[in-house]
Amino acid sequence: MASKSEEKIILGPIAFPKGILKKHIFETLETIFKRSVYIASPKLDLHPFFDPARNQYQSTAILKHFIKTTPKGGSKICLLVEEDLFIPVLTFVFGEAHMHGQFAIVSSHRLKEQYYMREEDLELLEQRLLKEIVHELGHTFGLVHCIDNRCVMHNSYSIEDTDHKGSYPCEVCFAELDKVL
Ligand SMILES: [Zn+2]
Ligand SMILES: [Zn+2]
Repeated sequence: MASKSEEKIILGPIAFPKGILKKHIFETLETIFKRSVYIASPKLDLHPFFDPARNQYQSTAILKHFIKTTPKGGSKICLLVEEDLFIPVLTFVFGEAHMHGQFAIVSSHRLKEQYYMREEDLELLEQRLLKEIVHELGHTFGLVHCIDNRCVMHNSYSIEDTDHKGSYPCEVCFAELDKVL
């Protein structure tokens, strides 16, 4: 079994502009999760997960498929996609993760200002992306949703929720995270 120091965080952009993944994102993830962060570009065809009736992609099915086809290890892998994701009970999701698992997925689709008919804002997109990546990775480390709306583990139902919360876990969530790091 891999020692903890060999456990990494891997960001897996799939047809995703890597230029958005700025140093700040890496540094913040390394600070919070005490793991080195790397980029890998897994080959994953998203077409089978497209739902034409909804014009969106089934995030749970993507995760399940990726889990099935990826060798197990100690590293956490967060897939990054531009496609709009959904789960059947919700109109959309910013991302999804396997609780206490290895895998997560985040979509930039609704993190872009253009989605809301506003002018492109790359800095804001980077902040939002960071928050959603930390949130989903937090689930893979066993963190649950937090009632503190400033905490990164607060659930976002809208982009306003995402903008309101910070990039870091609150004290309570940090204490929980500390137990598993
Ligand atoms: Zn969540
Ligand atoms: Zn919290």
